[in-house]
Amino acid sequence: MNYLNKKSVEDIDIRGKRVLVRCDFNVPMKDGVITSDKRITSALPTIKYLLDNDAKVVLCSHMGKPHAVLTEGFGLTKKEKAKVAALPEEEQSAAKKKMLEKAKVEDPKKFTLKPVADRLNELLGEGTVAFASDIIGADAQAKVAALEGGKAVLLENVRFDARETKNNPEMAKELAAFADVYVNDAFGSAHRAHASTAGVADYLPAVCGYLIQKELTVMGGALAEPARPFVAILGGAKVSDKIGVIENLIDKVDTLVIGGGMAYTFMKAKGYSVGNSLCEDDKVDLAKAMMEKAAAKGVNFVLPIDTVVATEFAPDAEHKTVPSNEIPDGWEGMDIGEKTRALFADTLKNAGTVVWNGPMGVFEFETFAKGTIAVACAVAESGSISIIGGGDSAAAVEKLGFADKMTHISTGGGASLELLEGKILPGIACLNEKD
Ligand code: ADP
Ligand code: MG
Repeated sequence: MNYLNKKSVEDIDIRGKRVLVRCDFNVPMKDGVITSDKRITSALPTIKYLLDNDAKVVLCSHMGKPHAVLTEGFGLTKKEKAKVAALPEEEQSAAKKKMLEKAKVEDPKKFTLKPVADRLNELLGEGTVAFASDIIGADAQAKVAALEGGKAVLLENVRFDARETKNNPEMAKELAAFADVYVNDAFGSAHRAHASTAGVADYLPAVCGYLIQKELTVMGGALAEPARPFVAILGGAKVSDKIGVIENLIDKVDTLVIGGGMAYTFMKAKGYSVGNSLCEDDKVDLAKAMMEKAAAKGVNFVLPIDTVVATEFAPDAEHKTVPSNEIPDGWEGMDIGEKTRALFADTLKNAGTVVWNGPMGVFEFETFAKGTIAVACAVAESGSISIIGGGDSAAAVEKLGFADKMTHISTGGGASLELLEGKILPGIACLNEKD
């Protein structure tokens, strides 16, 4: 699939039309209050463009993982099912009933998109966005029918309907009946084939919004036609989470740098002892195979040469720096050492494109954030096209204050990883191609 050839809102006539927009309004909430509205503000360029062009805008999104409370006879979550199954048989049916009753009362309050509608009105002007208390029910029908050009309605959480996550065609059809055009701008959900993220595109002309377009041109573009040298820096906790990313990038990059918790599995593959460091013994052979593949392809494969080790996993743990092949028994690797920071920075100096996923150490503890900070500095100073993918990596770059120095920080954690893995994202595959 050519990610760079998808139609966007600007490639289709939307003036005065009814437009269904799938957004990612899955914002963090605490006690009914939105704690970060970044996902809402990120969606504004598309929404404003549509409103400015007199479109009748129907917004939809999911929020969290609620029970499908608007569905007849909705069921328990996986976790709850396991809890019930662990109870003595005679208690199970009462426990199940209690959980469902609780969900029926609490979920509509906890997972409602109403606070998002309020925030949208603050940002776009009071009275711009109406809120429907259901998804495809009577309230939504009435509010969509009453829509004027330049106004919007936000439907209630699509996951209150059990058919959403099953990509049920009936639900997709019912959503599609609200509009003449479908716009997907929910990059954070693009790796899911759900009724509102992909299914609906079977019934309407489908294009992307500005947010997805940016992800595709910057991240998709870098993967398809990288400015060279192309350097990937991978870190984070586990090799097993990133196998797909490593395998895909090894075919594309000139240099592959590995740091963070996943580096110890590679060190073990080289025959080093890693003490109490994170290490996946069942992935050691795979790590070896990847290093051999890199060598065969002429990819420059760079591992840490020194490591900050600590006596325990704690912010104030006793620590010291040792060569990577001399991690003592009883100590665990928490960060890359100073020599490694310089070495990694050196590989970045002339980079044309840098893709970075995964912190270099336990950056949540200040003492062990130095490696991640050093790499963030080096990426920022490299003058390369710099792309940050992954939820924790994006959080690290923002927390450490480097966000505005990067070319692009992907807004979709899981979706950005799947893009880096070279996977086809259903929410993007379903969009119309340019002629
Ligand atoms: P992303 O969400 O960006 O894909 P990951 O989830 O793979 O990143 O990894 C992030 C986590 O990896 C962080 O919580 C960080 O503390 C952890 N981590 C990094 N280095 C180490 C290490 N040496 N030991 C243990 N955990 C580590
Ligand atoms: Mg993560």
